[in-house]
Order: sequence, then structure tokens, then C-alpha cells
Amino acid sequence: PHKLCMIPGPVEFHEDVLAAMASPALSHIAPSFIDCFGRVLENLRHVLLTKSAQPFVVAGSGTLGWDLAVANLIEKGDKALVHNTGVFGDRMGDCLATYGAEVSHVRAPPGHRPSLQEIEQALTADGPFRMITITHVDTSTGVLTDIQAVAEVVRRVSPDTLILVDGVCSVAAEPIRMDDWGIDVVTSAGQKALGTPPGLAVVLASERAMRVFNSRKTPVAAYFASWNRWLPIMQSYEKRTPSYFGTPPVQLIMAMDASLKLILSHGMEKIFAEHAAASDHVKQVLEGWGLKLVPQSREAAAHAMTAVYYPEGVAASALLSSAAAHNVVLAGGLHPTIAAKYFRIGHMGITVYEPQRKYIETTLDALKKALVESGYQLPSQ
Ligand code: PMP
Repeated sequence: PHKLCMIPGPVEFHEDVLAAMASPALSHIAPSFIDCFGRVLENLRHVLLTKSAQPFVVAGSGTLGWDLAVANLIEKGDKALVHNTGVFGDRMGDCLATYGAEVSHVRAPPGHRPSLQEIEQALTADGPFRMITITHVDTSTGVLTDIQAVAEVVRRVSPDTLILVDGVCSVAAEPIRMDDWGIDVVTSAGQKALGTPPGLAVVLASERAMRVFNSRKTPVAAYFASWNRWLPIMQSYEKRTPSYFGTPPVQLIMAMDASLKLILSHGMEKIFAEHAAASDHVKQVLEGWGLKLVPQSREAAAHAMTAVYYPEGVAASALLSSAAAHNVVLAGGLHPTIAAKYFRIGHMGITVYEPQRKYIETTLDALKKALVESGYQLPSQ
């Protein structure tokens, strides 16, 4: 049987998404596809709660989204600050450096996040920065950053600094109010709460980010990832006119159209609330079993996933393979300094709403059995 894929992405697909993936060949300039792609771009604005940001959807994994943002907004010698809560902050630093940025990090140990004072200090000590990047949810640690609070500090202390949010593990799960919070760029990918198979990079850029791009002094040091290539394409899909640069993954775009329709039929506020409720439930059950979360507090814990330490004496590989034997796939640790000590559960997208919400109970049941089989004594309730 199919084993439930309860990892922090890719996640279970809705049947409409599966059906879109199985649709017959269609030209990327067929009127019906142009309309579909145009709608995807418009609907992404609704998901990110922005009226004016420019969306880009390009074939590639979430990491391509970083290049699509950073290559276009960073020029050699620009200073960039990475708000670093784990592996994806380290990688973002490498990406920024690749395009010539002078990179500083404001870091926290695994499970923690930098304080607002530390961020303010970093912004003033080494600035001015062209850009600050914030991993909204670092999927390696499950740490959630309060991007609204960080953005407020940045706006106050360093108003010209662009704010880039890596929302790969948060878009369509955690609230991101791009316009209200003054977020300049959000990067994401299809395979997490956006609910499609892997293969789509998603970027939204504010009007301010587009102005910064338009006033570059040096050429963009990328070919495929350059907005010069993709901006006219995105604009023509939205205008419902044919255009071509690189062939879009037609079926994947159709899958995203199906998924975005489902998300928006719930409404974003409901989507955020359902993810929070599912997450609270999972975390409460795990803590009730005596397990300890990786994030320092509930406040700093993501709602689309849970990172949790193995209990004393339970062998990592035994627990995950035992859960898989009960038809639920979970993920191991990813942060190099603590990787062997914890595991991760994804609970996002369709698994948090009816009728698939039962997948979360199936997952908790499988995990409970796996813990017992691994020799863990559950506290008596
Ligand atoms: N950023 C974050 C926060 C992620 O979780 C991931 C993927 N786990 C990425 C970036 C990279 O995405 P991809 O693996 O699709 O390239």
C-alpha cells in the first residue's frame, strides 16, 4: 500500500492535483493553459496577501527560487545579513556570496532564534545592508521566526534594506502578510503547503524590489534565473497572451492551479488557523508522551511541521523504520550538530483539513506503535 508521506515536504497530494498531473499533453501556449498560468500568478498574490507584488513561477526546486531572487537583487560588494536559524540560513549565505555579496550572519543555536536586540545590533553594527534574509521556518530545526516583528525592526533601523523571506516551509501554512508587513521578497516551492509535486520555484517581489532591480548598475550574473528573461513571460501570462522563454512544466502548473483553488476555497485565515490547530494537537500529544521539541518554545515552533527529539534509549533508525512498517514515512534530523538526535513530522497542506485530517491521527497512531516497539515506555495517562 501507499505509505503516507508525512515528512516536511513533499506532502500528500489532493486528488485534483493528481488528476492534473495525469492530464494529456498540452501546448504551453494553448489558450486554456495560458489562462491557467495567469490564474496561478493571480492566486499566488491572494495567498501572500499582496495586491502589487510580481509573481514568478519557474520550473526548478525551491533553491532555484533563491537564485531567482538573489541574482536579481544583489550586486557584487553589496552587504547582506542572514537571520540564521539553521541549515537553510547557512545555505542562503552561500547563495548570497555566490552573487558577490559580503555576508554576515546573526545566528542562534539549533532550536533557538536570534533576539530582536541581536538583530538590531547586527543591522546597525555592520550595515547598511542591501538585504536581510529570514528563513521563516527553518525546516532543519522546525524553528519559526516572527517575521512581522523582525520586519518592524528592519524598517525602523535600516529602512532601505530589502527584506527577503524564505517561505519554502511556510507559504500557505503560516500567515505572511506581504503588503501589511512590508516584506519585499518571498521565495517558496510547490512541494510543501502549496500541495504540488516538487518542481516549481515560486517568488513574489514587491514593487520596491522591482525598483531596486530596475536601478541595478551591473548586469544580472545569471542567464536562466534573470528577471530580464522571466518578467516579460509572467506579464504575458497574466495578460493572457502567448510568450515563450523556457518551456514551463505544463502539468505541474495545472497541478498548482488545482491546489491554489482548493487553498483559496478555504480562505487564507482558515488555512492558517487549521495549520495552527493541527500543529498544536500534534505537539500536545508528543509532549504528553514525554517527548521534547527541538524549538526552544511553542512560540518559536513551526505549524507545518514538528521537530522532536528521540526519547532516551530509542535508536533513530529503529523508530523511523518501525513507523514506515506501519505505513507512515517520517523524516530524520537535518541539522548537522544534532542530526542523529531528532526526527521530523510534516503536517501541512491537505493533511490539516477534512477529510484528510485523519492522516494526522494515522501518523500519531503509527508513531505510538513505533515508540512502543522501540522499547519506549509511554507515561501512563
Ligand atoms: N528553504 C527551506 C526553508 C526549505 O525547507 C527547503 C527544502 N526543504 C529549501 C529552502 C530548498 O528547497 P528545495 O529542496 O525544493 O530546493
